[in-house]
Amino acid sequence: MKSTIREKQFAESSRDNLVKQLISVNEQLEQFAYVASHDLREPLRIIVCFTELLAKEYGDKIDETGRNYMEINRQAAKKMELMVANLLEYGRLGQGVDRLTKTDCNEALKQALEALRESIKSSKAEIQHAPLPTIMADPIHMARLFQNLIGNALKYQRPGKPPVIRVAVSEKEVQWQFSVIDNGIGIEKVYLDSIFAPFKRLHTDDQYAGTGIGLAICKRIVEEFGGSIWAESKPDQGSTFFFTLPKREE
Ligand code: ADP
Repeated sequence: MKSTIREKQFAESSRDNLVKQLISVNEQLEQFAYVASHDLREPLRIIVCFTELLAKEYGDKIDETGRNYMEINRQAAKKMELMVANLLEYGRLGQGVDRLTKTDCNEALKQALEALRESIKSSKAEIQHAPLPTIMADPIHMARLFQNLIGNALKYQRPGKPPVIRVAVSEKEVQWQFSVIDNGIGIEKVYLDSIFAPFKRLHTDDQYAGTGIGLAICKRIVEEFGGSIWAESKPDQGSTFFFTLPKREE
């Protein structure tokens, strides 16, 4: 009997140690990614700057093939700059959650739509939304969530089909459940989980431009505030992205 208790205690303490080690390794990895992306910014900025200068000042002394190579270089450096900026934003999200304040979700949505104004206009999108609640959240992150999800709904559209996007909310017992519904290209079932991983993309830049970090940022924001995010979809018909946020006292 005694030895069974001792074995149980031993198993529990090994498990606790393992969890602690995992948390610590995870934090170190996040810190590493943050520092690496921060330090990469400067040399990248120099590459972009001098590739542009080279094209401007020596472009006429180089033949067309050379100019093509320079342009490919410039585009790759620009893309990397964007990815590094995204990675930094992703890393910064892990730095503290004590910014909960009374947040009018209508206001957060308005800000997101304002940021997306050009693509809403050019795609002739119709955006519908129910009145949204005021909840305890972070207004900047709330706007970011809407912006990333609606931005994707605008981008992943079927050619010639104007986007119709709906933002809805339902009040559950202990949480708010938001959804962003689109009529776009949809997502195959096998990818519905992996799309939330950083830099996971299902398309090339020629098809749809992007860096693959938008949904990872959404996941990180939602989870940091104690909620969850997932997607349901029918290929060629559309997708719905759901996220929940716990109800909290003011
Ligand atoms: P990005 O849009 O920069 O590629 P995201 O992290 O926002 O990065 O999205 C990851 C992938 O999930 C996208 O590359 C796309 O394949 C898929 N995806 C996201 N939103 C939608 C959507 N509304 N409809 C169809 N596919 C989507």
